[in-house]
Amino acid sequence: MKDSARAVIIGGGVVGASVLYHLARIGWTDVLLLDKSELTSGSTWHAAGGMHTFNGEANISRLQKYTIDLYREIETVSGQSCGLHPNGGLMLAATAGELDSLRLICSRARYLGMETEMISLAEAQQLNPLIDARYFIGALWRADGGHCDPSGTTHAYVKAARTLGASVERFTRVLSLTQRRDGSWDVLTDKGTVHAEQVVNCAGLWAREVGHMVGIELPVLAMEHHYLITEDVPELEGRSEEIVNTTDYAGEIYLRQERRGVLIGTYEPHGVVWSPLKTPDDFAMQLLPEDFERLAPYFEVGFRHFPALGRVGIRKAVNGPFTFAPDGNPLVGPVRGVRNYWVACAVMAGFSQGGGIGLVLSRWMAENDPGQDIISMDVARFGTFATPKYTSIKVPENYARRFRLAYPNEELPAARPVRRSPIYERLLAAGAVMGANFGLEHALWFAPAGVAPTETPTYRRSEAFPFVRAECQAVRSSVGLYETTNYGKYEVTGRGARSWLDRVFACRIPPPGRLGLAPMLNPAGRIMGDLSIACLAEDRYLIVGSGFAEEFHLRWFWASQPPADVCVRSAASTLAGVSIAGPRARELVQRLVRVDLSPQAFRLFQVTETAVGFAPAILTRAGFTGELGYEIWTTPDYFVSLYDDLWDAGRALGLTHFGGRALSSLRLEKGYGSFNKDFRPDYTPAETGLDRFVDFGKPDFTGRAAALAERAAGPKRRFVVMEVPESDAEVIGYESIMQDGTAVGYVTSGAYGHCIGRSLAAGYVPTALARDGARFEIDILGEMRTATVHLAPLYDPQGRRLRA
Ligand SMILES: Cc1cc2nc3c(=O)[nH]c(=O)nc-3n(C[C@H](O)[C@H](O)[C@H](O)COP(=O)(O)OP(=O)(O)OC[C@H]3O[C@@H](n4cnc5c(N)ncnc54)[C@H](O)[C@@H]3O)c2cc1C
Repeated sequence: MKDSARAVIIGGGVVGASVLYHLARIGWTDVLLLDKSELTSGSTWHAAGGMHTFNGEANISRLQKYTIDLYREIETVSGQSCGLHPNGGLMLAATAGELDSLRLICSRARYLGMETEMISLAEAQQLNPLIDARYFIGALWRADGGHCDPSGTTHAYVKAARTLGASVERFTRVLSLTQRRDGSWDVLTDKGTVHAEQVVNCAGLWAREVGHMVGIELPVLAMEHHYLITEDVPELEGRSEEIVNTTDYAGEIYLRQERRGVLIGTYEPHGVVWSPLKTPDDFAMQLLPEDFERLAPYFEVGFRHFPALGRVGIRKAVNGPFTFAPDGNPLVGPVRGVRNYWVACAVMAGFSQGGGIGLVLSRWMAENDPGQDIISMDVARFGTFATPKYTSIKVPENYARRFRLAYPNEELPAARPVRRSPIYERLLAAGAVMGANFGLEHALWFAPAGVAPTETPTYRRSEAFPFVRAECQAVRSSVGLYETTNYGKYEVTGRGARSWLDRVFACRIPPPGRLGLAPMLNPAGRIMGDLSIACLAEDRYLIVGSGFAEEFHLRWFWASQPPADVCVRSAASTLAGVSIAGPRARELVQRLVRVDLSPQAFRLFQVTETAVGFAPAILTRAGFTGELGYEIWTTPDYFVSLYDDLWDAGRALGLTHFGGRALSSLRLEKGYGSFNKDFRPDYTPAETGLDRFVDFGKPDFTGRAAALAERAAGPKRRFVVMEVPESDAEVIGYESIMQDGTAVGYVTSGAYGHCIGRSLAAGYVPTALARDGARFEIDILGEMRTATVHLAPLYDPQGRRLRA
């Protein structure tokens, strides 16, 4: 065995094999994969090998397509067959909601360059004659996908990597990892020690244990999963082609042809966690006992929906474990605080996702940048809230919902509430319908007295629509209160704070008493964050950004190496906040503070530390609604008093609660983009319009060279807000923006603009087409609607109300 390597990959399942291949392909040939047993001996060997491009996140869908397309390449490089059956996929809908979901997939697929079509049930039966059409109302066909041979595919990756110079040691168990002072690792195995610059945890079923080796608790857990292989099915006799792989959402069944029989699997509602505390060391290439009694009712649904399967015997049953993260997407990337340690685990669809994971991780390791936005599979989308207890509740929920469609207005109930702000009970008493963001409960909308605080999951307008409208109108006509505790908050202090911030952020760092909008770029000049910086003193700053991105931003700050005289810490649990917005906001806040809030004395983006009622607070004049507004931050112990004071002072002024839904509508009326929806590491300052906050005159900041180059060349695409004719549904996200039958861009977010009476869609289109009044078409749930660009904000284009 080699005694040193540039990178050691722990785990030779399909994911580790792909990472090995991609590192070798990018030029890192001094890489070593270690497996404690035979390759594929974790989850990989007994997988059903199904592959598809379906994912709610467009970028993951794209990586899944890359994975499927890659198999021909590794077959060529390795000479090893992946056992491909590229027979495409069928998705069956049994309810109106499922049908909407299939239409949305179709609309999205056009821009992603995937061949997808809504087809009739009769056409679906041509592709799979086993379907009993009585149980379904619609179908989607997609060209990409099919199935492969799990073992052949893994070996093809490994052989291809070896061809390029990579090494593999089987039956070599990693026992511990010890970091040297220079950040490199001593990888202790039962066959000796390997010195490695970098280590990658691809340990699948043992990812949790390989996390423990460096003191981290990854939110990953294994579930048992069953599939059956039937005896030969007479209905398939004489067919020249295999049936198309089929997913039955209502029945929670997937199936595909296996020789002359069928492989049928189910994701049952009450799944069983496997090895909840520790994965056995000696588990390898083993199956688990079948539990037909528990599973029978769910497979019987399959035998009803595909009756020919109920008439033949079962040739083989497989029950094997595989791992999930709490939301079902993989955990990929570096871990804050642990240098030169990477994870690629919790991959529940290794044959759809393994290739894409190898691609982005290898780039990330070699170039310090995954090359595209992958936030939705970044390990940093989970923070400390994702404790083992949280994971142990969320993973079974996710498993049970594997084939349930995620409605855009749906909030999943398991493991809630985890994090609560001090005013949580008060908001509930006010009718709040809560969502969870980074584990923290926050109000989405408020049900008035007498209205149930619940919402039917749907792709269309819900019963919340009129109440969200009332909240928006209250903000625009008098004053509203929105809790901002769920924003990401960071304190940066110390003598070197300003110069460090100057390097990390692309904007001018505001002087004491001022707040600045603060884009943060990566070296490639792409948007890592769209935050605000409030300068409380030369050596004290409050930074506010997206709550979802808290760990993502903390990791970025850590990687940006604050010097010894700078302290960066999260204020997630040490500051709570509210936004007060609307034409009467000044009147309200002035009742609680002694500082003069008159327009000349306390201008837009001014910051001060002052008492607000009982609460010592940071007061800023800022907001996200486009109205006159203030944000008030205090410590959690004062927060209830602050809230009560605001209500006492504001009730007579018409103070109204508003939630996240109203905020989405208000901000789009103003054309403001939102991080993780409209602004992501895929886009640049000029594309997003955030270039107006970039200080190009600064001598040095991360991403400067790329931002300057982009400024010289001009952006290729632009973020625009479009108006679409009203119907009973708004855009959801990632729908293709079409012109003359060609997909030219895609939607990033949408909302109904309640105060301007228009349905709004935001997204990116090529710069040449981003003209005021330009017309496109967007397929919204199967209906082509005209989309008209408005370059100026539709509400208060001069910003007079904001500056009032
Ligand atoms: C019944 C079933 C059906 C499935 N069907 C599909 C499907 O149709 N399509 C699909 O895409 N996915 C399917 N999956 C999921 C798929 O199996 C996984 O996504 C995939 O196998 C994950 O691969 P991995 O490389 O992450 O992990 P694993 O396959 O678990 O590999 C981890 C490897 O790490 C090694 N290892 C662990 N610890 C150490 C250590 N300390 N030292 C050295 N080596 C170590 C292990 O020996 C193992 O080989 C299915 C899973 C099951 C159980």
